[in-house]
Amino acid sequence: MTTTAADLRRRVRDLVAAWEFTPRCDSWMSGYDVEFSRELGRRGLLAVTWPKEFGGAEGSNVDRFAVSEELLRAGAPVAAHWVGERQIGPALLRHGTRELQEEFCPPLARADYRFALGMSEPDAGSDLAAVRTRAVRDGDGWRITGRKIWTSGAHRATHLYLLARTTKEDDRHAGLTEFIVSIDAPGITVTPILDLRGEHHFNEVVLEEVRVPGHRVIGEVGAGWQQVVGQLSFERGGPERFLSTYPLLAAVIQTGLADRTALRELRGLAARLQILRRWTLTNARAMDAGHTPVTQAAMSKYLGNQFETDVINWARPLMPRADRAVKELYEQAVAASPASGIRGGAAQVMLSVISKGQG
Ligand SMILES: Cc1cc2nc3c(=O)[nH]c(=O)nc-3n(C[C@H](O)[C@H](O)[C@H](O)COP(=O)(O)OP(=O)(O)OC[C@H]3O[C@@H](n4cnc5c(N)ncnc54)[C@H](O)[C@@H]3O)c2cc1C
Repeated sequence: MTTTAADLRRRVRDLVAAWEFTPRCDSWMSGYDVEFSRELGRRGLLAVTWPKEFGGAEGSNVDRFAVSEELLRAGAPVAAHWVGERQIGPALLRHGTRELQEEFCPPLARADYRFALGMSEPDAGSDLAAVRTRAVRDGDGWRITGRKIWTSGAHRATHLYLLARTTKEDDRHAGLTEFIVSIDAPGITVTPILDLRGEHHFNEVVLEEVRVPGHRVIGEVGAGWQQVVGQLSFERGGPERFLSTYPLLAAVIQTGLADRTALRELRGLAARLQILRRWTLTNARAMDAGHTPVTQAAMSKYLGNQFETDVINWARPLMPRADRAVKELYEQAVAASPASGIRGGAAQVMLSVISKGQG
């Protein structure tokens, strides 16, 4: 661990200890507290890899890993800034114009802007290149019409990242373009989709002739596919892909619930946790070296998801003796469990990416 990473860990722990919240599983999806995200920003704990001129700290992805890991271990409410800080800021820094970087990165680093991801559609999930949402030129801007689904946090976001088709070319990968759309733009309707527990965190987003200014294109028109593939290593390769159930694991141990069998099985889980940490750190190092480790990130996501599921299976027999708080963590983990093998790319698709082994 570098001194910087150790210092960042300490600063996160200080904030977490001082902030009033109830730890939860899957907090990067469901733990939403804008003021907590803003406080992280004020303390320089968001956007640690970004240039200082855009609100960052010019740290490494290994530093960012340290911050993320501490927040997730604590089950802290980080969903408000997660997507914007994890992948929209980095995408803008890589592909955006200076104008877009200046407009969006500082407010993202303060958690004043919050993003939802408008990628998936009713017939375009694993097969993202099947996106049908269409953007047509309209003077110096665009008009966008289409339907996005499973859009996490769109009801609380300020902006939508949107993947849309800008030409009718035969090659499905060509002609896709990335846009930034204000969530309150005329023509956008956000409708809740409730999850298994009846909780509202994802949505359907319908766009009808939504006018988007020309400067809100990320990167090049028609280069959306290559650019979005680059985002996937940020999206899939971080510690949130194996730490979603960590608060449950920790609570079972801390409350002394683990019996002899559970303690014996815990050794295997602890070893796998170490493997996943080290593997995910190699993703961070690869990003620091300027690579986009898409295959490696798919491996983290696939194995991390199995680990999260095994934590639930490990805790299950202990639940009859658990107190209310631990039971609540268990229920959160179970409810999120079917989704974790799907969101950000389904498990079978991860296996397909891994077996091809490109990038
Ligand atoms: C909790 C949650 C949050 C989400 N948040 C967002 C979000 O914020 N923004 C967003 O854009 N999307 C979001 N999604 C959508 C998510 O990215 C898609 O659900 C996912 O990509 C799968 O697409 P699909 O639902 O269309 O399923 P499909 O692609 O229809 O897949 C159905 C099944 O077929 C299998 N399958 C599909 N293709 C292949 C293949 N080539 N080989 C082998 N098996 C295959 C899959 O593994 C899966 O089991 C979210 C999903 C969930 C569950």
